[in-house]
Amino acid sequence: MKPAPFSYHRPRELAEALALLGRLGDTAKPLAGGQSLGPMMNMRITRPEHLVDLNDLIDLDYVRPSADIVEIGAMTRHQRLATSVETRRDLPLLAEAAATIGHYAIRWRGTLGGSLSHADPAAQLPLVAVTLGADIVLQSTIGTRVVAASKFFLSIMTVDLKPGELVTAVRFPRMGARASTAFEMFSLRHGDFAVVSAAVSLTRDASGAIETLRLGMGGVAPVPQRLTAVETAAMGSPSNAEMAKSFAELAANSVSPEDDTRVPAEFRRELVKDVTMRALIRAFERKEVPV
Ligand SMILES: Cc1cc2nc3c(=O)[nH]c(=O)nc-3n(C[C@H](O)[C@H](O)[C@H](O)COP(=O)(O)OP(=O)(O)OC[C@H]3O[C@@H](n4cnc5c(N)ncnc54)[C@H](O)[C@@H]3O)c2cc1C
Repeated sequence: MKPAPFSYHRPRELAEALALLGRLGDTAKPLAGGQSLGPMMNMRITRPEHLVDLNDLIDLDYVRPSADIVEIGAMTRHQRLATSVETRRDLPLLAEAAATIGHYAIRWRGTLGGSLSHADPAAQLPLVAVTLGADIVLQSTIGTRVVAASKFFLSIMTVDLKPGELVTAVRFPRMGARASTAFEMFSLRHGDFAVVSAAVSLTRDASGAIETLRLGMGGVAPVPQRLTAVETAAMGSPSNAEMAKSFAELAANSVSPEDDTRVPAEFRRELVKDVTMRALIRAFERKEVPV
């Protein structure tokens, strides 16, 4: 199918894009990688009257580590998230998760800002943003807002983004050298969206006991979930396969997935157990942040 007719705008600078979006309001949509918006327009699920193409805003394509955070521009492509020295060193969970998105060609087009704004419940990057406690920077002609990822995702493909606002950057807390992370997912075929995915970031003391655990789960609810019951239970516990199994069972009992046309809830719950165990065991095995 072909999209409904629309007017195409290609601003050269962020200020110009914000002015256009401010003027056009909810008749316009920003176009980033087009990997989700394109198909949705072709299927006429969405029919914006105006497209504001962000692809000339090269100033929004960056990975900028500082002392406590790594700020990443909204137009940074998945491929750069997966492969840049900075993300692999300072945000290995993000790099590992980004490398599993779709296929190579999709990763070269899709952007961080597009993935977060689109908010597919199975998507990797919203899950990592929630798991790591990222902040999302939103700009409009009115000003700048910073929203915690845990508050940004409201429901399936629904985010706290007002007409005229753009995601311009995402600030991830920088992971210390002692952090150990892993991302695991189950999909029906290689390159498909995950059915269920788990993101783990943890630190341990010298004896190997867990000091802190962040466990995020995708595909079990309309938005990514932190499994705080497991995070709390894990504190002070040994980091071994037996504990991974026990936390995986607790994880499966902490979620309330629903049946859908493809995947029964009980199977999804089993997958939670599987991906949690695999992610925890890999994080336990990692001695240091890989570079
Ligand atoms: C075959 C295929 C397989 C895929 N597999 C996966 C997968 O396994 N995992 C996964 O996570 N994704 C997958 N995707 C989707 C891909 O990651 C997209 O890149 C992503 O969902 C949207 O990013 P985008 O830059 O392409 O955004 P676009 O498609 O351009 O835009 C998506 C939405 O976000 C809005 N938007 C874009 N940028 C901004 C911004 N800066 N501020 C505000 N709003 C904005 C747009 O208006 C639109 O509503 C797949 C896509 C395809 C075609």
